[in-house]
Amino acid sequence: MNAIKKDIRSLSSDELTAFFIERGDKAFRAKQVYDWLWAKGVHSFEGMTNLSKSTRALLESSFEFKLLQVDTLQRSTDGTLKNGVKLHDGLIVESVLIPTEKRITACVSSQVGCSLNCAFCATARLKRMRNLEPQEIFDQVLTIHRQGMEFFQRPLTNIVFMGMGEPLLNYNNVLSAIEKITSPDGLGLSPKRITLSTVGLPKMIRKMADDGVKFNLAVSLHSARNEVRSQIMPINEVSPIEELVDSLQYWYKTTRRRITFEYVVWKGINDGPEDIQALVNVCKKVISKVNLIEYNAIGEERFQQADPKVLESYALALGAIGVVAKIRQSRGKDIDAACGQLANKQAM
Ligand code: SAH
Repeated sequence: MNAIKKDIRSLSSDELTAFFIERGDKAFRAKQVYDWLWAKGVHSFEGMTNLSKSTRALLESSFEFKLLQVDTLQRSTDGTLKNGVKLHDGLIVESVLIPTEKRITACVSSQVGCSLNCAFCATARLKRMRNLEPQEIFDQVLTIHRQGMEFFQRPLTNIVFMGMGEPLLNYNNVLSAIEKITSPDGLGLSPKRITLSTVGLPKMIRKMADDGVKFNLAVSLHSARNEVRSQIMPINEVSPIEELVDSLQYWYKTTRRRITFEYVVWKGINDGPEDIQALVNVCKKVISKVNLIEYNAIGEERFQQADPKVLESYALALGAIGVVAKIRQSRGKDIDAACGQLANKQAM
């Protein structure tokens, strides 16, 4: 039996270079392999056709590919595709392809399950099992890119980290995946086309700003009042709105980039004038725009979509202080592929 082999895609470009140099080969070899792995997305050593037979054999005896596979593929009447993706250890995450006239967007997961327990989110019902590896995040993106070509004859244009899990609790792996997605030696997608969505962890938001990340930031706010937000998002008890606002001001000061607040309005929860006023106050402090997103029912009685008139009132009040607020319709609801509906129903 062989010793346990490493997944070749867990190596950085420097480690790959060191591997070849140690064996008396050239650094250039590492570049070729990197190109196969991250620009061409090849998943076998035989597929690396510009390498000699002996190099391919060396790689084969030293490394392996831990691959994910599409376990289920569902197609919504609106064209949205939802993948149930099986990881190398049998666990399942979901990723979604959202087609619009101009875009092919991949919505990807960053963790198996989630630990944050937002009361309105189906993923919260799954225990957090583990973080995804960088290549597992990359592979979801690549899978959707290929599905874009196959089903719509169009390449991937955008990525949102709005699938399962909290990306800022798997920060290093998410960043490493984004590096491979955006690098000219990798998929070469512009970071401007990537949005990371978070419940809002102030320490990590500051860290991201300091690290100089170039992608967009979205924050799931849902209420600008501590007494309300703490009831629906337990994380708010650890990091209340004031701290979140401070960190977002720091983000803007450092990056000069506007963030997006994601906000669902529910009947009797956050649909009063005081709720609107609280959001207006926050938006006066944080350079932002607001996406008012439709609620996707997950079978919780206490959450019901608010009256459309209230959404209009939110949009008007925000517009009055110069904040762009858009009312967003969900996609893929009939196959449970919309925001907050990812919960491996197929697998349960
Ligand atoms: N953990 C990250 C990313 C995953 S959720 C985050 O919280 O931002 C992606 C978005 O869907 C978040 O804004 C989340 O609050 C929202 N969401 C969760 N459940 C929802 C539901 N049932 N209906 C509509 N949006 C929901």
